[in-house]
Order: sequence, then structure tokens, then C-alpha cells
Amino acid sequence: MNFKLLKKLFVVFFVPLQIFASEPLCPPCNSFEKIMGVIGQSGALNWFSKNIHAKGEKLVFDLLKCKPEQASSEKAKILAEEAQSAVGIIDKTRHLPLMSLPLRIALLGIQGITISSSIFVDENLFDFYTIFNEGECKKFKLDVGVPRCVLFHEAVHAKYHDSSLILLFNIFTAASAFTAAKYALQPISHNGLRNVLKCMIVAGTVKYSFKKITRFIENRADREGHYTTACAQCVRESAKWRELCKGLSVKDGDNLVEWRGYLSSSDLNKIANDLGEKRCAYHTVAH
Ligand SMILES: [Zn+2]
Ligand SMILES: [Zn+2]
Repeated sequence: MNFKLLKKLFVVFFVPLQIFASEPLCPPCNSFEKIMGVIGQSGALNWFSKNIHAKGEKLVFDLLKCKPEQASSEKAKILAEEAQSAVGIIDKTRHLPLMSLPLRIALLGIQGITISSSIFVDENLFDFYTIFNEGECKKFKLDVGVPRCVLFHEAVHAKYHDSSLILLFNIFTAASAFTAAKYALQPISHNGLRNVLKCMIVAGTVKYSFKKITRFIENRADREGHYTTACAQCVRESAKWRELCKGLSVKDGDNLVEWRGYLSSSDLNKIANDLGEKRCAYHTVAH
């Protein structure tokens, strides 16, 4: 392997990376989103996700003695299948299985997580959703639009292999920052000082880029997921729920929108307006 060429590539990559990190990415420009879409759906990333990342995740679960459980709700499984087909995962063998989100994670206000081997969803969403707020326990009966939109959001993460994309992006960012720092810090003769500065540059770059890529990925999953539901009523229910979560400060609603790239309830209402008269099967036939 030609390491010199690889080093040069890392340094060349460092410049656009810094531009990318300093640009506001929500909403992203079309060409950037297109490139990320092609990378996210590539055979290479699918291979990495299934053969390397998923095995690594299994190893971590085994080490933590954590055994994920399959989701038991039939309605949830049907919705997850529908969502993955609708977002464009045509090959059903590529559909991720639906698992039940452990209660201790759901209590943090997280409703769904997608890793390379599965989609986790809080099954409370299909029943009575419980919120603990300042020692008070509140229960809500949710409309189908809420879990449906959560699963469509997660299905978009599955479509683009987002968890693997973030992992590789961070590895590449760290390698690139490390190589660029090595060149830039050559004039400093003190070894200790050089190493400290190198660590600071790598940690700072990875932290900043991670924030940016996460923001982009969550924003894309929210936008594409809600549009793909093709149901104005589902999106309105999701918007109402998001507003409510904000009021109850579930996982710091404001912060989620500003920092993580999630759409606000007014953004979601705009999507509902764009969808016009479109309705899903649940909102055209009484279930
Ligand atoms: Zn997400
Ligand atoms: Zn609907």
C-alpha cells in the first residue's frame, strides 16, 4: 500500500472537510445531499455495514452482556416493513429487523435508534406513551401518525446506512486531522508540546465534524421520512407530538431542533401542507 499517497490524500481531504464543517448544513445544498445519497446507498457501504460494523456491534453487545429483544408489536413490525419499502429499500433481504428499545434508553425520551444490524423502537409508542417529567408521570394515547413517522425516520437511516457512514466519516476525519497536524506542527521541536497540540487538533476537528454530520443526517431522515409517509394527517400528528414533547422538555426539545437538525413542529406542518390531500391507509380506512 502506498502510504505516502494515502497521507497526501488525507491532507487534501482536510481542507474541504474544514469548509464542510464551517458551513451551515441545514438545509443542505442539493449537490452535497446527492453525493451523500450515492455514498450512503453504495454497495461498498452496504458491505461494510453488514460484514464489519454489524459484527463489531454484536461484539460490543456480547461484552456488555446486552441481548436486544425482537419487537413484539405486530403493528410495529408491519409499519417498519412498510417504511423500509417506501423509503426505497427495494430488496427485502436488506430490511433491518425491528427490535424493542430497552426501557432505560426509552426513558431518556429517545423513540427510535437505527444501528447497522437493526432498528430499535420504543414500543410504548404503539400503546400508551409514558413521560416522566420532574417526578410526574404522564400517559398519552398516541395517534398512529406518531409511531409511523418515527419508523419512517428510522427507515431513512437504514436506507443510507447512517450509523456506518458516521463511523467511517469520523475515522477518516481523525486520520485526516492527524496527518494535516503532523505536517503543520513540524517546525515545533519540542516533542511533548507537538503531541499535545496534535491531540487537541484531532479531538477538536472530530468533535466539530461529528456535530455537523449528525445534524445533516438527522435533518435528512426527518425531511425525507416525513415526506415519504405520503400522509398529511400522519405528519400533522407528528408535528403536534413534537410540540408537546418540547413543552414537556423531553430530551430538551429545543436543543434537539437547534443542535441535532431535527425539524420543528412548524417545519413539519409545512411538510403536511405540501402533502395536501394525501392520506395513508390508516387515515383513509378506520383501523
Ligand atoms: Zn434519527
Ligand atoms: Zn396517515
